Amino acid sequence: MRILLVEDEARLAGLVRRGLDEEGHAVDLAGSAEEALDWLAAAGAEYDAIVLDVMLPGRDGLDLCRHLRQTRVSTPILLLTARDAVADRVAGLDAGADDYLVKPFAFAELSARLRALARRPAETLGVALEAADLRLDPATRRVWRAGQDVSLGNKEFRILEVLLRHPNQVLTRAAIAEHVWDYDFPSATNVIDVHVRALRRKLDDPYPGKLIQTVRGVGYRLSTGES
Ligand code: CA
Repeated sequence: MRILLVEDEARLAGLVRRGLDEEGHAVDLAGSAEEALDWLAAAGAEYDAIVLDVMLPGRDGLDLCRHLRQTRVSTPILLLTARDAVADRVAGLDAGADDYLVKPFAFAELSARLRALARRPAETLGVALEAADLRLDPATRRVWRAGQDVSLGNKEFRILEVLLRHPNQVLTRAAIAEHVWDYDFPSATNVIDVHVRALRRKLDDPYPGKLIQTVRGVGYRLSTGES
């Protein structure tokens, strides 16, 4: 998943970010509501979840949450609130947050809540993605081609996921990189080529129908075979 983490406490933010990184998520970190809005403007509506601390310098998390919902950002939001701040939690849910977690929390719980949130909007996540005889289940992280299990590395899986979410569209290497790595990943394009080669070896080479197409000078496209 691609996650926006909004938290001004550097130590906690660093811990959470590292934990999410290790689980294979791409994390952008904002230290204030304003920075969060910058990330959101840069990334469009491409985040799968926002982890939002209530206590922020300047505009607080509740205010940002309310603003996002008013501007029709529907990305799932997990609020981080202070202990015993019942009023915050009620206000947070009223402001349009999907869930909250009370500080201090165990990372495992944050991770579990995020998985639950990602499963919630059935139209975008949690539902198996399909193209021709290829199938990918984001919830279980499994992939099948022609009914056969295909074992993919973490980056391969995420590249395939982003291609499948945009069937028949050409995605530039930069666009793919944004989904798979953080923004600050230094020039990921060559690395993407390597991973796409590996994907093809596993997904396309053994089968007559080739699904991953190279668009010379532009990027890659996943063909559903219908166009
Ligand atoms: Ca804070």
